[in-house]
Amino acid sequence: MSDKAAILKALEQVSMPGGGTLAASGALSDIIVHQGKAYFSLSVAADQVANSEPLRKAAEEAAKAVPGIASALVTLTAEKAPSRAAPASAQEKPAAPAASGPMNPARIAVQGVKHIIAVASGKGGVGKSTTSCNLALAFAARGLKVGVLDADIYGPSMPKLFAIHGKPTLAGGRTLNPMQNYGVKVMSIGFLVDEEAAMIWRGPMVISAIQQMLREVAWGELDILVVDMPPGTGDAQLTMAQNVPLAGAVIVSTPQDLALIDARRGVAMFRKVEVPILGVIENMSYFIAPDTGKRYDIFGHGGAQAEAVRQGVPFLGEIPLAMNIRERSDSGLPVVVTEPDGPHAAAYLAIADRVWGLLERDSARKAAPRIVFD
Ligand code: ADP
Repeated sequence: MSDKAAILKALEQVSMPGGGTLAASGALSDIIVHQGKAYFSLSVAADQVANSEPLRKAAEEAAKAVPGIASALVTLTAEKAPSRAAPASAQEKPAAPAASGPMNPARIAVQGVKHIIAVASGKGGVGKSTTSCNLALAFAARGLKVGVLDADIYGPSMPKLFAIHGKPTLAGGRTLNPMQNYGVKVMSIGFLVDEEAAMIWRGPMVISAIQQMLREVAWGELDILVVDMPPGTGDAQLTMAQNVPLAGAVIVSTPQDLALIDARRGVAMFRKVEVPILGVIENMSYFIAPDTGKRYDIFGHGGAQAEAVRQGVPFLGEIPLAMNIRERSDSGLPVVVTEPDGPHAAAYLAIADRVWGLLERDSARKAAPRIVFD
């Protein structure tokens, strides 16, 4: 019997609260087994999430008890509409946008972490990871407690950008200690598995891995956790955007028209899952020749700013195309820490200040008391 079939059989022993077995409930996602670890999710009605934790635990225990399965990660996902079994009062309410709203268990805040932001791009190669890294370092330079979660599962760059080698240690139970350099805590799939192993992972495994890096890492108290998203705007990215309790998203684009079309898709994707767009950064915005000081707008200039205006989202700033940004990033010596007084660090710091200002403004708005007049 395959591992998957054995797990399915084990789930026949798990009863559903309303009768019947979990295996036959139709709530199970595909079951993925990789190197002795099982991953699957249970889909429950949005209004049943809080009550479904025992079911999730029972499913995890049942899967773990299968010979050859060392561990299991089962996540709850909320359906869009309340189930037919839901009480009448719940049915009368308009269906919550479960996939993105607070009812989604995946959207529950990570304890101790004040703000989580995504750094995303419509396509690869625009400098998203370089920007995430330098932006995180800019927040740290401002005295904030910062973490970076490298969610770019198929091409993790943070180990290289932060010059971190080795493997994370266990903090206790199944919680890992984050790695650390330049005063920033970092977790990346690159520390945990071979690049080739992650390359073959399918959607649910990727989501599970990110949930683990988010919730089973001893992040401690953080002012901000920067999530370096995988490039693109496909289903995987959309699911990921739904599965992380994001305070907002930053879109990185280069100025060319083609990149901007992708950036527009990025904005649309986060809007779809109701994640606020903090703004757009234009990377590789212009080039200053080091010998002559002459400026060249290699990819055109200002396209991302115009696009931000068109989309009605903030423009956060421009980062020039610069040889030392590339050289230093690629050798694990990012400009913000190695040339903190240089013009490039200044550009990242200014963007970090804008992002922080927007986050604090949004949380102040949420915390503001509501005055009710009788
Ligand atoms: P992405 O994460 O979008 O795939 P990366 O951050 O890995 O992109 O960047 C791709 C390449 O471009 C890297 O070699 C990086 O050093 C370089 N790069 C990124 N931003 C800049 C910049 N502003 N100036 C020069 N090179 C850059």
